[in-house]
Amino acid sequence: MKRQMLFLGIAWLIILSASFMFQHYESERTHNDLILNTTRTLFDNIVLTRKWNAIHGGVYAPVTKENQPNQYLDDPMRDIKVNDTLTLTKINPAAMTRQLGEMSVKGGKFQVHITSLKLLRPENLPSPREQKALESFEKGEKEAGEFIKDGTNMKFFYMAPLKAEKACLKCHEKQGYKEGEIRGGISIIIPVHHNEHLASIIAGHAIVGLFGLFGIMLFSMKLNKSYRKIQKQAVIDALTEIPNRRAFMLRIESEFRRSARENRPLSVIMIDIDHFKLYNDTYGHAAGDECLKKVAQAIINTVKRPGDFCARYGGEEFVVLLPDTAVDAARLLAENIRSNIKDMKLSHKECPPLYVVTISLGVAATVGSSTTTYETVLRQSDKALYNAKRRGRNQVEVFEV
Ligand code: GH3
Ligand code: MG
Ligand code: MG
Repeated sequence: MKRQMLFLGIAWLIILSASFMFQHYESERTHNDLILNTTRTLFDNIVLTRKWNAIHGGVYAPVTKENQPNQYLDDPMRDIKVNDTLTLTKINPAAMTRQLGEMSVKGGKFQVHITSLKLLRPENLPSPREQKALESFEKGEKEAGEFIKDGTNMKFFYMAPLKAEKACLKCHEKQGYKEGEIRGGISIIIPVHHNEHLASIIAGHAIVGLFGLFGIMLFSMKLNKSYRKIQKQAVIDALTEIPNRRAFMLRIESEFRRSARENRPLSVIMIDIDHFKLYNDTYGHAAGDECLKKVAQAIINTVKRPGDFCARYGGEEFVVLLPDTAVDAARLLAENIRSNIKDMKLSHKECPPLYVVTISLGVAATVGSSTTTYETVLRQSDKALYNAKRRGRNQVEVFEV
């Protein structure tokens, strides 16, 4: 029973672990997908802004400390002096992306870096990671993404290529670019927050797991109780609550073998209530049942040695097994049982001459011998009981060979 409980418990934990692993895997996948999609969207946004800028052939903004004229921009219309205090300078997509990148680093949320294998600006030099990604784009890869460790923080690195589009060629055609050709790439690094779902998955599984284990424990205890009840029912008589005939047969078999092996005596007392049919007829079946219970209790109370064994043998018949007991001692005990029952003075109108419930007893004994069997001893005690009935009931008879 304990093994079954252990088995159920282990099976439950395996199911739970599998569920946890699956949910954890799914949650991580969703979390990672979300990060990847976030960086993709950021990238698409930057590309869209660049396109907007390119369509307009660059946009003008006032020259300031942060927005100095672009020395790499080869354009006669690069700077427009409006008046003494205002000069406008053209910001092309590359400069715009670089400025956005610088702003993003200052903002601390994410980092944007524009880079290329064919550099115009030395500050756009690719990092080793970017270099690797750019090389992979040349070989046909569409994007690159990986988690990176920055001290104790986790970050996600994303990079995708920048392709020459029609709008770009307006300015870049002279560099020899063709439409669709990879000009470089933009990398984006965003901080990765801890997957908060993990804690709730762990907590959820722990609660469900504990409830499950508790349920299994309760179920096993209930099962155990029912099992013990069934086990008890198999050997205990339901009415008198003393061992039944089955229990007796198991016991006599082992006791008989032991007595034969050790050459010790073994006695059996067969008991039968006198005129019990008449008792039922007079007082009713329910009263008969009560009487049976009282007789059983009286027998049990008289037979006190630990090795002795009383059982209900059948309807109103009982049997006592007395290991290590010779016939004389058995007869004495049988006499005690008889007088104790008689002395209870349970009235029985149809049982003359005392008109109380009495019993008849047959005693048989064996000294361990290989020539007899326990069935023989039982038969002999039954025969002695028959003689006790024949001789007038309420008496003990011993089987004589
Ligand atoms: P005798 O003195 O010769 O033993 O007569 P008896 O009437 O006791 O013997 P008999 O075998 O004719 O009847 C036994 C009766 O025991 C018949 C049956 O109704 C009754 N009996 C057997 N089992 C039970 C039981 O569980 N409850 C009740 N109330 N009666 C039972
Ligand atoms: Mg009988
Ligand atoms: Mg009887």
